[in-house]
Amino acid sequence: MRYFSTRGAGPSSLDEALQSGIASDGGLFLPEQLPTFRVSDFDDAESIPEIAKVLLSPFFAGSELQDDIDGILAETFSFPIPVTEVSSVGRNGYLLELYHGPTAAFKDVGAGFLAACLSRLESRAGSPLTILVATSGDTGGAVAAAFDRRPGMRVVVLFPDGRVSDRQEHQLCCWSENVLSLKVQGTFDDCQTLVKAAMGDAELSKIHRFSSANSINIGRLLPQSTYYADASLRHFRRTGVKPGFIIPTGNLGNGFACVMAREMGLPIGPVILATNANKTIADYFESLEWLPRASLQTLASAMDVGDPSNMERLRKLIGEADVLRDQLGVTSVSDEAIKVAMRQDFREFGFATCPHTATATHTWRHLDPELAEGHDWILVATAHPAKFETIVEPLIGVKVPLPPELADILSRPTRSVSIEPTLESLAAALQGIG
Ligand SMILES: *Cc1c(COP(=O)(O)O)cnc(C)c1O
Repeated sequence: MRYFSTRGAGPSSLDEALQSGIASDGGLFLPEQLPTFRVSDFDDAESIPEIAKVLLSPFFAGSELQDDIDGILAETFSFPIPVTEVSSVGRNGYLLELYHGPTAAFKDVGAGFLAACLSRLESRAGSPLTILVATSGDTGGAVAAAFDRRPGMRVVVLFPDGRVSDRQEHQLCCWSENVLSLKVQGTFDDCQTLVKAAMGDAELSKIHRFSSANSINIGRLLPQSTYYADASLRHFRRTGVKPGFIIPTGNLGNGFACVMAREMGLPIGPVILATNANKTIADYFESLEWLPRASLQTLASAMDVGDPSNMERLRKLIGEADVLRDQLGVTSVSDEAIKVAMRQDFREFGFATCPHTATATHTWRHLDPELAEGHDWILVATAHPAKFETIVEPLIGVKVPLPPELADILSRPTRSVSIEPTLESLAAALQGIG
């Protein structure tokens, strides 16, 4: 399989696309052509790793990793991804629980796959690769957990001091010697600027061999298609109905993975992107004009994105807004509505949801009746509510029990280094990494 940039450059191999993250012309990698499947192609695949193998094997054609697929997928899908039935306003729906991984959010799937692939490619290289990741909370933890203790790989996490929750900070700073956690005296934008500056610095790049692990890497997206394949196949085999999905959306990686699965022939009905008050996508579908903007702070902070990068992939794969809006729904959910939804989820489901997941449950409850009744709906639960306890607990009035994976992380000692938001300060800190 050959990979091309959304802006034309290429071809590249899967291995090159995974290692470089972004294409040489600044675009995002896409496979030359998506493979297509029939439902019966999955007849012998029962478990998620087996379904992943059928779905993802074509993407590995010609890769050095071709013979390592089983090991890569076993590592990636080492935790359950269950679907739970819920009911509200006289209807039944389903919750796809993507939060049973090491850091209790769906990003564990993409980060785990990328780490499994890169560590195998890197074991064949000479000097260690340094993954730089700027994070406002969730991504850094998932990436650090996935690369923790992997030989030949180092991770440098940059986060804005005082702007992540206590539990989030703990998850960013509790790893072993190959992970360096940097508390930047600045904003998330400063962290991102620093990463770009470091990657663009010829001298530093030569010493450290930088790579990135943010959601523009195709290695984060490919494995995410698997849980849409698995959930839709199970539902379709049981009921004969293609389920629709409602997906909390920020940078559009998770939503894109679902669209990709549908394009590949999986039995998926309507797809709705649920966004927070950052309504760049909703405005695009309405006005047909793509107007990225600065992000707004909301309760669903991991979705605070004003310029979703994966829109570039979606436009290349499907088309512009006039085409896209016939194939995808989009909603924008206010903080007020998120709060109402979290309270109602707790009352009606009997367990709490996180603020991101609440954008999907709100959207589901307020679907146009014809759309609501005409389909079965799977709502995507992107993180465990215990990660956002300072928002969730005051609203529902009870403590959210810690899942075992989070309890384990929060019992570990932490360490971090504070830096000024300058390249000199970052370069000095990089000398200290093991
Ligand atoms: C990252 C994240 C999202 C948004 O996912 P995208 O792929 O960026 O659209 C939603 N919810 C949670 C909990 C996240 O961490």
